[in-house]
Amino acid sequence: MWRGVIDQYREFLPVTERTPVITLHEGNTPLIRADRLREAHENRIELFLKCEGANPTGSFKDRGMTMALSKALEEGAAAVICASTGNTSASAAAYAARAGCRAIVVVPRGQVAVGKLSQAIMHGAMLIQLEGNFDKALEIVKGVSEKFQVAWVNSVNPFRIEGQKTAAFEICNQLEGSPDFVFIPVGNAGNISAYWKGFQEYRRAGRVSRLPRMMGWQAEGAAPLSLGRVVEHPETVASAIRIGNPASWKLALAAIEESQGEIGVVSDAEILSAYRQVAQVEGIYCEPASAAAVAGLIKCSREGKIPPGARVVCILTGHGLKDPETAITLAPPLHVVEANLDAAAQAMGLG
Ligand SMILES: *Cc1c(COP(=O)(O)O)cnc(C)c1O
Repeated sequence: MWRGVIDQYREFLPVTERTPVITLHEGNTPLIRADRLREAHENRIELFLKCEGANPTGSFKDRGMTMALSKALEEGAAAVICASTGNTSASAAAYAARAGCRAIVVVPRGQVAVGKLSQAIMHGAMLIQLEGNFDKALEIVKGVSEKFQVAWVNSVNPFRIEGQKTAAFEICNQLEGSPDFVFIPVGNAGNISAYWKGFQEYRRAGRVSRLPRMMGWQAEGAAPLSLGRVVEHPETVASAIRIGNPASWKLALAAIEESQGEIGVVSDAEILSAYRQVAQVEGIYCEPASAAAVAGLIKCSREGKIPPGARVVCILTGHGLKDPETAITLAPPLHVVEANLDAAAQAMGLG
């Protein structure tokens, strides 16, 4: 039985037999070949989607949270705190519930997708809605964690990164080797750093012989890394990456530089187009933020940046059901029909 990432990758993680393992059996997510999506962009590459929405709370945050909560408990914490654009709060709330620990989550008011809010509420977290954006929430949470006895579980917590790096191990195992390119959305920049750490450790351990290039993608209105400066008022439809001052800024840039990758920018229109394409040609419903990675790949393909035969993985970081409101804004006019066969057939374009 799969028992979560700590059990599976223990030798690569800073845990001991005394660490209480708080797990929801996260990880082991599908890596799915995406031939129809690839063909739509006429590319002679091998394309795979890593479906992190299949984690227990619907995003990759669970890989980090199993580590963060286990270590917090080992260190005797009675409460955890995080700032969140939504998925971190959902995951922290769930793992804290499992651990019997209090969770305090601070989110920007009115800026969190409804599915994510519902998770924090259902798992019994204390939900603080801040009159300010994510960056402000992160600053406040940092201050609180320094002043009071609460463990900070944002991705600046090194145990989060340790847990999240396991996704890189899984991809190498699933492909029986390393990919050539990894396309990944970048918000607070913890995940791209975690993947790079994971790939490097796997190579050092002799499990793979090469390293991929890390291709990070931000939304046009929230692109501090590519602009090289803090964005005061980040704006994008992709709420999970609506971040103007990423905490792991330096680590992310190091990952990109060391891997000879790139940091790029896509517009909201490109994000929504990729979001819809993944759902409609591959049957995979991801969040808008996740689609930024696919939009980035489409852009690179168009620019001829991906050599034929390259093995490419896009990280679909979270599940589309997190944010049904964004999906519904894309709906064509909905049919309402009288309850008879002729009217129905006509509405179906068959009559
Ligand atoms: C958290 C998150 C991101 C951004 O990850 P970072 O580690 O903050 O860069 C992207 N997509 C989804 C769905 C997320 O929840």
